[in-house]
Formats: sequence, structure tokens, C-alpha cells
Amino acid sequence: MHRASVGINKFCFCLSLAFSGLLLLLPCLWPPAQPLALPQPKAQFRPPPNETYRNFSHTPSEVPLKRRGTWAPFKGHIKHEPLDIEDVFIAVKTTRKFHRSRLDLLIQTWVSQAKRQTYIFTDGEDKDLLLRTGTNLINTNCSAAHTRQALCCKMSVEYDKFIESQKKWFCHVDDDNYVLLPSLLRLLSSYHHSQDVYLGRPSLDHPIEASEKVKSNGLVSVQFWFATGGAGFCISRGLALKMSPWASLGNFISTAEKIRLPDDCTIGYIIEALLEVKMTHTLLFHSHLENLRKLPPEIVLEQVTLSYGGFENRRNVVSVGGRFSLIEDPTRFKTVHCLLYPDTDWCPKVKLESGH
Ligand code: UDP
Ligand code: MN
Repeated sequence: MHRASVGINKFCFCLSLAFSGLLLLLPCLWPPAQPLALPQPKAQFRPPPNETYRNFSHTPSEVPLKRRGTWAPFKGHIKHEPLDIEDVFIAVKTTRKFHRSRLDLLIQTWVSQAKRQTYIFTDGEDKDLLLRTGTNLINTNCSAAHTRQALCCKMSVEYDKFIESQKKWFCHVDDDNYVLLPSLLRLLSSYHHSQDVYLGRPSLDHPIEASEKVKSNGLVSVQFWFATGGAGFCISRGLALKMSPWASLGNFISTAEKIRLPDDCTIGYIIEALLEVKMTHTLLFHSHLENLRKLPPEIVLEQVTLSYGGFENRRNVVSVGGRFSLIEDPTRFKTVHCLLYPDTDWCPKVKLESGH
């Protein structure tokens, strides 16, 4: 009896040994050789500190006296993320009466290279333009007047359409701007769209002052920088989303009404004064408020936006020679376009020297 129970115990012991050996042989039960590779957070890119103020786009006369604010990275700065034109939403503000005189030139030139990413915000129907060019033409139904309310109404629609688009960057330009797409992509790829980025050209060399009417009752005055709309500006998606309480679904119009300032100032107000995010200053954006003839010809193609003088100053254009005469191309946009995209069918072909 005693012997028999010892025998059973021995048998059970051997059986359990054999079973555990078998378990050890099953690879699915092995612990992982090394921990699983989990996605790591991306390293944060920091724009250069103020001391590193160096911008290849400065013409000597334009270097501002006060070096406040954050300046855009200089040439050769590290690329942050590879960016495609698909990632950018470009809003062009226009009005019905400028469809022929201004918009056609843009559609013929830079818009043709980013047709799906460019959205034209206007105030009247133009079936002919739609059929002829197949552009994204958006009738905002805003008033065609050149008033603060009408312009803010358009900006408000631009903002909502951008949020809807899911794109990474929002860039706004006027219908007298040429956008140099390769430079725009180069500049934006220095940043990450999830960072708070507001890029543009300050129109003044000092911040603007307004009485604070959104947060307080109007007794406090606030100072803030804004990017001049006539030169164009860009905002990252991360920052645009934070602007929502003061910018989305018509809130932009009421914010602008509270401070009684134009659309571009209101953008600066929301970002700098309400969200306390610093604008990144860059002189790569140009409006016709500056003397465009002073821009050295050798750096014209490195700029992000260009413009041209209106009726009052037709000679205020960038100096780029060749290709077209001033009569054929009074704005110089066609010349710039042919230098950037020489294979365009309407660009004059550069004659090769005989023997080459
Ligand atoms: N604009 C507009 N409605 C108007 C007049 C102008 O939307 O009644 C737009 C125009 O298409 C341009 C911007 O506002 O995109 C600035 O207009 P403009 O260049 O004539 O004036 P600026 O302020 O640059 O002198
Ligand atoms: Mn203008």
C-alpha cells in the first residue's frame, strides 16, 4: 500500500516534469526578447532665439530698428518635416470686379501649379471663370464693399473652410500677390504644423495698440504684432484650432467688431493678445506698401510672396529682367513664373547659343 502510493507520486512527478519541458518548447509562450518598439514623441523644434536674427531676405534698408518678436529661421536651417503642396491650404481674397483684371493673371501663373490647394474667396458668381479654369471658386456671399465688415466676413469664411479641409497649413494672400510655391514649402517645412506658428511680415516696426474688449471691459490696452494681409501670412493647423473660440462660425466677425480693426489686425489680436502666441516675423512676404524695386534681383526667386503697385504706383514692381518687357508683363509676375517654371507652354524659350 505504502509502496504503491510512492510509485504513483513518482509517476506524477515525472509527468509534471515532462509537461513543463513541453511548455518550455512552445515559442508562443516565450517572453519577448526585447520590449516592443512604441512610437516615440517627436523632438520639438525651437525657432532660433532672437540673437540669431539673420534673414537672407533682408535688404539693408529694411532691417527693422527694433528686433522684437521671433524671426523666421535663416537659409539653410534644418528641415523639420517633409511637406507637400497637398498639405497647404492657400486662400486668395478677391472681389468680383477683380476677376478679370487680377485673378486671371494668378490663374495663368502660380495658381496653375497648385490648383487643388488654392481656394479663391470672392463675393459674386462667375460661371465663366469656373468653366474656363476649374479652380476652387468660393462665393462667400459677403458684401463686395471694401469695408472692414466685408473683408472680415471673407476671412471668417476662409478660416472655416481651412478647418474643414484638414490641411496642415493655412496661408492667406490677396489677389495682387504672386506665391512662390517652392519657397513657401521650404519655409513651412522648417516648422511643424502641430506647433503654434504664425508667420508673416509686420507692416509696422512697432506693435499695434488696441483697447482690450474681448477678455475685459475695454479699460485695458493691449499691444500686439500682426502680419500685414497684403503680403500674405501663414498659420499652422495647431494654432488655427486654438483660435476657434474667436474665429470659427462667424465669431471672427464679432471679434473684429469688438476691437474695430481690419481682418489682418484681428488675426494678430487673436493670436498675440488672446492666445499669447508670438508672431514669427519674416521679410520673405511682400506687399506693395514697400518699395519692391529695392529687392535685389538675385534674391527675388527666394521670396515667398511678391506683389505689385496699384494704379497709384504702377512702377512699384520687382526688378526681374529678360523674358517679357514691362509692357508685356507690367506686374513682372509672368517673368517670375517663367524663371521658376521655364517649361510652361506660354513661356518664351531661352535661345541656345549657336554651336551648343
Ligand atoms: N478687395 C475686396 N473687396 C473690395 C476691394 C478689395 O475683397 O471691395 C480685396 C482685393 O481683392 C484684395 C484685397 O482686398 O485681395 C486688397 O485690396 P487692394 O489690393 O485693392 O487694396 P490694398 O489694401 O492692397 O491697397
Ligand atoms: Mn493690394
